[in-house]
Amino acid sequence: MKPRKQCIFCGSIAGLSKEHFWPEWLSAYLPTPDPYSHVAEFHSAEGKQPQRLQRRSERPGAVYTRKIRAVCAKCNSGWMSALETEVKPAVVALIGDQSMPISRGSVASLSRWVAVKTMVAEHSTEDAALTPPEDRRAVRTGVIPSYFRIFAALHTLETKTAYYRQSTTLSRSIRGPEPPLPDGISRNVQVTAFLLGPVFFYITAARIAFFNADILDPVHAMYRLWPEPANGTIVQPLPPLESLQVAAISQSLDRLVQDPRVWYGGPRRRSTRYKPGTLVTE
Ligand SMILES: [Zn+2]
Repeated sequence: MKPRKQCIFCGSIAGLSKEHFWPEWLSAYLPTPDPYSHVAEFHSAEGKQPQRLQRRSERPGAVYTRKIRAVCAKCNSGWMSALETEVKPAVVALIGDQSMPISRGSVASLSRWVAVKTMVAEHSTEDAALTPPEDRRAVRTGVIPSYFRIFAALHTLETKTAYYRQSTTLSRSIRGPEPPLPDGISRNVQVTAFLLGPVFFYITAARIAFFNADILDPVHAMYRLWPEPANGTIVQPLPPLESLQVAAISQSLDRLVQDPRVWYGGPRRRSTRYKPGTLVTE
């Protein structure tokens, strides 16, 4: 029997509801797309094969009306609502006035908000989550996982709302992923990209021991929000990213998997944690 779906943040099985991925107050600051519908595509790939389209659906409504059933009503109206209230002025300044670089005071709450959205997005498809339950619990009190990296920049694309995520499992030896994947977690590396009005957010997460996270850093200049830059200051305004640059950044994980030093070790069975997946060698 399939276990009952739990709230991804507190584990509660009561009061799970479909929630808007982007809060409704954002729609006032975003253009109404034409035509008023959005296309959702699900691609998957085995090993180093090119990604194949698995599902394509066109739904009425803008992409920001997208709903995900992963969070309980108590979390949604409690700490998540408090975080929305805290971050709203910074988000409105960003997408309304396009005020980049972001003021130092806003970086912390903005990073936390983006981290929470990234974790929710991991649960939009089944069996593709990366962040373990203890790290999802910790984000409620403001702790962003150390293996997350969050970047932002303005962009010049006509599209103002979009979402892209790619995830897989990498191991550095045939013994399998290190640290081992916890129950219910099937990925250890992902890139997530959001367009939110004129702002492009790019988030990488690699929960792999001795993995150089810089490998997935943006190939074009973006502000790094998390981990906060060592000196805490963002020196000069960056030019907005062009369409091809946004695409190149979003495809970082594809490039890594295509690298000849990455080997494919066969499908990872759900029941065994130690079955090798994709192998990375130095
Ligand atoms: Zn909850």
